[in-house]
Amino acid sequence: VEVVVVGAGFGGLNVVRALRDADVNVTLVDANNFHLFQPLLYQVATAGLDADDIAYPVRGTLRRQRNARFRLGRVTGVDFAARAVTLRDGAELHYDVLVLAIGAVSASFGVPGVEEHALELKSLADAEQVRGHLLSRIERASADGADGSANDGALDVVIVGGGPTGVELAGGIRELYDKVLARDFPDLDVRSATITLVEATDRVLGTFAPKLSASAAKELTKRRVALELGTGVARVVPGGVELADGRTIRGGTVIWAAGVRANPLAAELGLDIGRGGRVVVDPDLRVAGHPDVFVIGDVAASPSGDGAALPQVAQVAIQGGRHVGRQIRRILAGEPTERFRYKDKGSMATIGRNAAVAQLPGGLTLTGPIGWIAWLGLHLLYLIGFRNRANVLVNWAWNYLTYDRGARLLGEDVGEPDALDAAR
Ligand SMILES: Cc1cc2nc3c(=O)[nH]c(=O)nc-3n(C[C@H](O)[C@H](O)[C@H](O)COP(=O)(O)OP(=O)(O)OC[C@H]3O[C@@H](n4cnc5c(N)ncnc54)[C@H](O)[C@@H]3O)c2cc1C
Repeated sequence: VEVVVVGAGFGGLNVVRALRDADVNVTLVDANNFHLFQPLLYQVATAGLDADDIAYPVRGTLRRQRNARFRLGRVTGVDFAARAVTLRDGAELHYDVLVLAIGAVSASFGVPGVEEHALELKSLADAEQVRGHLLSRIERASADGADGSANDGALDVVIVGGGPTGVELAGGIRELYDKVLARDFPDLDVRSATITLVEATDRVLGTFAPKLSASAAKELTKRRVALELGTGVARVVPGGVELADGRTIRGGTVIWAAGVRANPLAAELGLDIGRGGRVVVDPDLRVAGHPDVFVIGDVAASPSGDGAALPQVAQVAIQGGRHVGRQIRRILAGEPTERFRYKDKGSMATIGRNAAVAQLPGGLTLTGPIGWIAWLGLHLLYLIGFRNRANVLVNWAWNYLTYDRGARLLGEDVGEPDALDAAR
C-alpha cells in the first residue's frame, strides 16, 4: 500500500510517524527539505534565534523509519481518478492513500498595498527578511544621522494584527530595540522609535480569555508598544499605514500579521472549499467522495464537536496527523474509520522577557513569569531535534543573561547604502 503525504509540517510529520511499523510504503513530499517550527519564526525575525535553530532537515526525521522516504518537490496537481500526484518537476507519484497537509499562507484580505509595502511572517525567508529590514533601517539611520536623531520614522514599526504573532513580534522588536540595538547604536535615540500594534477588534489575543487579553495589553503598554484597537487598516502605503478612520501611522517597517488563509492549491485541486479557503472534510478527516484522501491541519476545516472549524494551530495539525495514521491502519485491517476527536491542550503567547499568557484546559490561566517559564519549556519540548533544542536553550540563556542577541547579522554585501535601500 502506497501512502503519499504532502507537507512535512506538524500535520504531515505526525502522519508519517504514526505509520511507523505499519505495512505501508510512505512517501513524504515537501517543497522544502526542512520542517519549520513556525511558532518561533518571530524569534528569527527579532534576531533572538538563527534560521537553522528552528528548522530541521526532513530526511533526519525519517532516518530511523524504514518504511518512509522523502521526496523534495512542489506538488502542482492531483489526478484523483488516476490516484496520482503531480510535481512541478514533471514527476508523478502514485498513491493508494493520499494525505494533504499543505498548510496555510498569509492573507491580505484584499487590503491595498499589503503585498507591495508590508513584510509578512510565514516562512523562514520572511523572518530573515524582517530581521534584515529592521537591521538595515537602523544602519541606514546611523549612516545618515549626523545629528544623532533617528526621528524621521524610519525606525518606527507598525504591526498589523493583534493575534499571537503580532503580540510576540511587538514585544520581541521592542526588546531588540531597547536592550540590544540601543547599545549597538549609542548615537541614535533608538528607544524613542515607536512600535504600534493595530488590531481591528477591541482586544489583542482575541481567541484567549478576556483577562489574558487585558494582561497582554498591560504588558505591551508597559513596554511602550502603542495599541490601536478597534480600527482596521484601510491601506498600506510606503512608510506607514492608513487606518479606516482616516489617520495615518508612520512606520519605516510595516509587518502584516493579520491572518492566514488555506494554501490556495487546495482550491486549484477542485476540492470542496469552505471559509478561509479551507477544505471541507468529513468527521474522520476524509474528503467526501474521495475515500482515499485525507486533509489535515491548517488547510482543512477540521470539524469540532459543535460544527465550527477547529482553529489553525499546531495541536490541531499534530493530533489530526496522529488520527489519520490510526485511520490508515484501521482501513488496512478492514475496520471502519473513527471520527476525529480534538483535545484542546490550551494556547500560549509571549510578550517578552518574564511575561507570557497561557490558557490551559479547564479555565486555568497563567500570566507573568510563570506563564513565561511554561512557554519556554513547552516550545523547547516541541522543537524537533536535540541539536535544535540545545542551540535554542543556549541562545535563550545567553540572551537572558547578557541582553545580547547573536543572530543580528546582515547578509553579505548589504553594507553599502544603495544595497541598504534595496534590502527591503
Ligand atoms: C508566525 C507564526 C506563529 C505561529 N505560532 C503558533 C503558536 O504559537 N502556537 C500554535 O499552536 N500555532 C502557531 N502557529 C500555527 C502553526 O504553525 C500551524 O497551525 C501549523 O504549522 C499547521 O501545520 P500544518 O502541518 O497544517 O502546516 P505547516 O506546518 O504549514 O506545513 C505545511 C507544509 O507543506 C509544505 N507545502 C505547502 N505547499 C506545498 C506544495 N505545493 N508541495 C509540497 N509541499 C508543500 C510546506 O513547505 C510545509 O512544510 C503559528 C504560525 C505562524 C506562521
